[in-house]
Amino acid sequence: MRQKKFLLEEKDIPTAWYNIQADMPTKPLPPLDPKTHKPLTADDLSHIFNAECSRQELNQTDSWIPIPDEVREQYTYYRSTPLVRAYALEKALDTPAHIYFKNESTNPLGSHKINSALPQCYYCKQEGDTNVTTETGAGQWGCALSYAAKLYGLEAAVYQVKITMKQKPYRSILMRTFGATVEGSPSMSTRAGKDIITRDPNHPGSLGTAISEAIELATTTPGCKYTLGSVLNHVALHQTVIGLEAEKQMAMAGEYPDKVIACFGGGSNFGGTAFPFMRHVFDGSHKNTEFIAAEPQSCPKLTRGKFEYDFGDEAGYTPLLPMFTLGHDFKPANIHAGGLRYHGAGMIISQLVKDGYMHGVDIPQLESFAAGMLFAQTEGIVPAPESCHAIAATVREAKKAKIEGKAPVILFCLSGHGLIDMPSYDSYINGDLQNYQLSDEEIEKNLEDVPQV
Ligand SMILES: *Cc1c(COP(=O)(O)O)cnc(C)c1O
Repeated sequence: MRQKKFLLEEKDIPTAWYNIQADMPTKPLPPLDPKTHKPLTADDLSHIFNAECSRQELNQTDSWIPIPDEVREQYTYYRSTPLVRAYALEKALDTPAHIYFKNESTNPLGSHKINSALPQCYYCKQEGDTNVTTETGAGQWGCALSYAAKLYGLEAAVYQVKITMKQKPYRSILMRTFGATVEGSPSMSTRAGKDIITRDPNHPGSLGTAISEAIELATTTPGCKYTLGSVLNHVALHQTVIGLEAEKQMAMAGEYPDKVIACFGGGSNFGGTAFPFMRHVFDGSHKNTEFIAAEPQSCPKLTRGKFEYDFGDEAGYTPLLPMFTLGHDFKPANIHAGGLRYHGAGMIISQLVKDGYMHGVDIPQLESFAAGMLFAQTEGIVPAPESCHAIAATVREAKKAKIEGKAPVILFCLSGHGLIDMPSYDSYINGDLQNYQLSDEEIEKNLEDVPQV
């Protein structure tokens, strides 16, 4: 009988994360102090983040970083996650491609974000912090952080993008259920928030505004650390449990992926899935794997952004990061994939794109939901609107395979389920959604505000 689902035994769950920085032929450029333009040290970063994550962020020498026993123990409550051969999707597409997905939706929070929330809260607790704060878009990161904070006895304060708080009310309820306090951003509770509201009273909020507010809270509250659910190197590092498990599970299936696909917000589920496979491009054992990051057409930093030093947030509080960006004050359209509405790409990813190891594709909103509907109707899982982008890119590849008469092995990451996003599906089914195509002029204009370095 053919096997559909692959799971690992507890002993085979990774004991170390894979740090791709150590193996990259060209290392990512350093983050810079926004005032002096000097490269930042781990010490500088530790004013905002916990010390261990600050060191991991800049570690370009150790390929493997041990997972603390206490974190691995927590991982075993929901890992390994299933690797599934999507036979029904293949059949519906009538494609010769072999399609596998790594299902990161099976934990209590429903997305991959918990893989990094656990270690971040663990390190804060170890280092004597009492509070954590963060921003959240669609709410998945806020939920994961609220849960992990409670687990390690920390207080969590979450700034949620105002527009998504309205679109996805259940996530703020979920965060409060785990004991966190939640504010819509921009809010009147911080200087940054007040400034933004003064300039634009109807500002819908963005990840950029929420990051500004959370960083302000962290830097003005003793014992409070800022945490981030995407973009930064240490977050993608923690997510490599996804790809490391998938590598072993693909071997159980007797296959190796020709194409690795994930949706792309700041790059953590993409990096987590792709980096362990990319190490075999670097070591020459699997040179031809193609890596595809699926971003929304309305927020196309990888395909239409510019590689520049830019701020990670709207107000310009973060270090300057070398990245593909649409400009730090870019206001993405209100698409339902809230977790992909971010103006920049992670530093590692940006370097890898620049060096040609991977590339982005832009997915229109309607195409993403059409793919999500097909996936729900074939595989029985309602995907998160973010994950629909990865599915849409997979569908494109599967159709291409049919035309070309090839049978590639495709692996994609199902970064989360969409059961808390049903209003988005409702809008799609009712025909109320639209695509957002950006003109070159709009993109050019927004890039004018990128700081000169
Ligand atoms: C946050 C989120 C994303 C986007 O973030 P990345 O860091 O790019 O992975 C994608 N899918 C889901 C379900 C998310 O919650």
